[in-house]
Amino acid sequence: MKNIYIIGVGLIGGSFAIDIKKNNPDAIIHGISRKETTLDEALSLNLIDKKAALDDIVNADLVIISIPVDATVKLLPTILDNISDSTLVIDAGSTKAEICKVVENHPKRRNFLAMHPIAGTEHSGPGAAIGGLYVGKTNIICEVEKTTFKLQEKALELFKSLGMRIRYMNPEAHDKHIAYVSHLSHISSFMLGKTVIDKEQNERDIFDMAGSGFASTVRLAKSSPEMWTPIFKQNKDNVIETLEEYINNLIHFKDLMKQDDFEAIYNEMKNTNHIKDILKGIA
Ligand code: NAP
Repeated sequence: MKNIYIIGVGLIGGSFAIDIKKNNPDAIIHGISRKETTLDEALSLNLIDKKAALDDIVNADLVIISIPVDATVKLLPTILDNISDSTLVIDAGSTKAEICKVVENHPKRRNFLAMHPIAGTEHSGPGAAIGGLYVGKTNIICEVEKTTFKLQEKALELFKSLGMRIRYMNPEAHDKHIAYVSHLSHISSFMLGKTVIDKEQNERDIFDMAGSGFASTVRLAKSSPEMWTPIFKQNKDNVIETLEEYINNLIHFKDLMKQDDFEAIYNEMKNTNHIKDILKGIA
């Protein structure tokens, strides 16, 4: 695949650009973004070889869409309208149901592959892109049967070259499960950060007393609201369900504290230590 167009050259798109270029030095990486300054930054960081516009994607062998999920829902039908018959279009959005739905009847649906790379950091924009981000990471692919076999093969070859592991899931199951392991963690981190900021108006004290536990738990609160608001909007029902369960657990913990039931508190934590076994090899 020679002509590769990346729409949204931030953390996710830029990281794809780095490794694709490393593995295929002859590929030409074209960047598309809303803001000219973002493309200038991507150029100066050597993430892209050329600036491009949406009209140019007729020349693409591969289009990677890595923009906020609300923008993807709006743009994806137009992108499919503008590609050639042999172009593979993949999107990296963190939600999958609405994105798959918006093109379910599109004449070029078979050129599209929906994926969610389970990789990232709390940073955003071209400067956040890093080489090797996807090595050993899981890539969730949805509705693979709706993509032509030839383009599936091209996509799988690409993911293999990046060192990714593949899991197949339907979009609804993806959105339900990801609400627990990703979306809830972000809300929990944002609200932990808010709770401490509200209480400790003197930010210097927070900074001086913050140990690695606070820093690692609140890390996700540095994430971009521009990216996360549309994710919560698209996955509202699943996220509300996870929040209800989480809030019930917090209330239960508070009740045990009020009742001085520290044996039960000990047991709650002991049972939750099982997370060590579940996450062995990840964290
Ligand atoms: P990011 O670093 O903020 O990059 C997104 C880029 O998209 C920005 O540089 C922005 O550039 C551009 N953009 C925004 N709206 C656009 C539009 N309408 N048209 C063209 N470009 C536009 O975000 P990211 O973390 O790479 O996330 C990109 C996608 O990957 C999202 O769908 C997200 O859900 C998904 N994802 C993220 C992670 C993660 O951990 N961050 C993990 C897996 C998947 P401008 O400055 O030009 O607006």
